[in-house]
Amino acid sequence: MARVVLNDIRKSFGAVEVIKGIDLTIEDGEFCVFVGPSGCGKSTLLRIISGLEEQTSGGIEIGGRDVSLAEPAERGIAMVFQSYALYPHLTVRENIGFGLSLARRPKAEIAAAVKKVAETLQLTPLLDRKPKALSGGQRQRVAIGRAIVRDPGVFLFDEPLSNLDAALRAQMRIELTELHAKLGATMIYVTHDQVEAMTMADKIVVLNGGRIEQVGTPMELYEHPATPFVAGFIGSPT
Ligand code: ADP
Ligand code: MG
Repeated sequence: MARVVLNDIRKSFGAVEVIKGIDLTIEDGEFCVFVGPSGCGKSTLLRIISGLEEQTSGGIEIGGRDVSLAEPAERGIAMVFQSYALYPHLTVRENIGFGLSLARRPKAEIAAAVKKVAETLQLTPLLDRKPKALSGGQRQRVAIGRAIVRDPGVFLFDEPLSNLDAALRAQMRIELTELHAKLGATMIYVTHDQVEAMTMADKIVVLNGGRIEQVGTPMELYEHPATPFVAGFIGSPT
């Protein structure tokens, strides 16, 4: 379990500053959603938290540790992306266990961990299938399983549902909310979809042009939008 603290995070690509001073605390166990229009810096901020991208200035703490310069593998996080590249030649079981195999964990430990994850995500009947024999939603669950199996304190999701159709998206919203309740982990979830933000978040962070427009619960943002941008973004139907 882990609290995430961002202290005046900035990021420039060449002469262009795309993250313009982000101060934010995400509490231990919170489901925090970053929402905002395309190009506002959501993915860049997530990649900075993960360590895949280095901030130009500012600091990051995870679970009380300064990880500003730590390697991704040392941050106690797991990432789930929009394009969830599963290994096509491996079974579901092997896909979920892959990270633990790489880390050379004992076979019995891997088997036990995969079994538990499969039960959590209702993948047990599918463990011997290859990805091509799965539906889109099942594949996404396997991708989430690969992240969960390492038992991270913090999950980072970058638009994980955007390739799914509307019905499946609605179902996965419910499943992810249930998963969060079950695991109790801190989750940082990026989307440009205000329905996802409003239905899943404990806390919403509205980003615009590399800055925070407002932070609040879905109800606070809906009832008391701080700016016309927030009102328009939260209020507009998809
Ligand atoms: P979002 O995820 O909110 O759509 P991004 O974080 O992907 O936004 O991008 C924010 C801004 O940073 C965009 O203007 C994008 O073009 C720019 N950007 C992102 N990554 C790079 C990069 N590697 N090099 C140059 N510009 C980038
Ligand atoms: Mg993005």
